Amino acid sequence: MKPIQMVDLKSQYLRLKNEIDSAILNVLESTAFINGPDVKFLESELNEYLDSKFTIGCANGTDALQIALMALDLHPGDEVITTPFTFIATAEVISLLHLTPKFVDVLPGSFNMDVEQLEATITENTKCIIPVHLYGQSCDMQPIMAIAENHKIAIVEDNAQSVGCNYTFEDGSSRKTGTMGTIGTQSFYPSKNLSCYGDGGALFTQDEALHDNIRMIVNHGSKKKYYNDVVGVNSRLDTIQAAILRIKLKYLDNDTSNRNSAAEYYDLRFKENELIQTPERSSNSTHVFHQYTLKVKHSRNELQTALGEKGIPSMIYYPIPLHLQKAYQTAGYSNGDFPVSERLSEEVISLPMHSELSQDQLDHICDSVNAFYP
Ligand SMILES: *Cc1c(COP(=O)(O)O)cnc(C)c1O
Repeated sequence: MKPIQMVDLKSQYLRLKNEIDSAILNVLESTAFINGPDVKFLESELNEYLDSKFTIGCANGTDALQIALMALDLHPGDEVITTPFTFIATAEVISLLHLTPKFVDVLPGSFNMDVEQLEATITENTKCIIPVHLYGQSCDMQPIMAIAENHKIAIVEDNAQSVGCNYTFEDGSSRKTGTMGTIGTQSFYPSKNLSCYGDGGALFTQDEALHDNIRMIVNHGSKKKYYNDVVGVNSRLDTIQAAILRIKLKYLDNDTSNRNSAAEYYDLRFKENELIQTPERSSNSTHVFHQYTLKVKHSRNELQTALGEKGIPSMIYYPIPLHLQKAYQTAGYSNGDFPVSERLSEEVISLPMHSELSQDQLDHICDSVNAFYP
């Protein structure tokens, strides 16, 4: 059996090696390292894949979030709502821009924003909501979009973990995550579902004026070279990374289906075990299984150690909810404020999940988890 990885980038690379090597070599030959043709091609291929009007490449998913907030007309002290059960980047950019992060708890089943609690968190200072499509499933966007529209609030979808996920509205129509909000943001970090060989990110919008604004911000606030209209940033997707992403995008749906097969097998093997809860599937969202995350009744950390001893990596996403992080200790939150996130941080454990898992690896993982909870 091949060694088990959380994400097996090496096996994926070997499967696509010929295409990827030649795509990288082409960039080397062209020396168009910055804003080369592959960047534009990738942007239009992402538009097509996501049915999005505009895609703008940038340097990473955290930049994408920051640039999204810079592109909206926000002012210091404006409140931006997100959940405390996410990666730090989501809240970090809010604080960096001197905006105020406000948290709404998540649902224990989907791990996504509890929309019922959203309305009560909105004040006259609320200017933006950042729903995070966690682990590969969409937040319940229809009510979030209705609330945002009512209150004239922007939505920035943090789609770092859910590229390719589909959300279905009550009328039966559906949209890809990242294309429903005012702006959507993507990360192409190596462990993400659509990933490059370094850092990369993108923003999506359906609004031409916002697109123009974002293009200007990512390029030093400049439309015309050496004429700077606003204070911007330098955030670019490298041509080499775009060339790699163009290859991987062709295989994304196939990779997602491999992830789903692995998830279905995990479900099957754990469903009889009363000490383990398998991930819930939202009725109005597909799942792209960025993570396969169990909730366990007890001894989560001991399980992690036991799996490690059998050569099985696992991760805790996330061990400390954001409102209890040291970085946010002066934000006025305390233990007990977001009980669901706090409980989840003690119950969750993510198992190896990627497009290259073999049956013998899956069996070894399932046997080992079930043996720990007999
Ligand atoms: C990975 C991730 C980011 C940040 O992406 P980077 O490319 O690493 O900057 C932001 N939000 C979420 C939810 C993520 O998982």
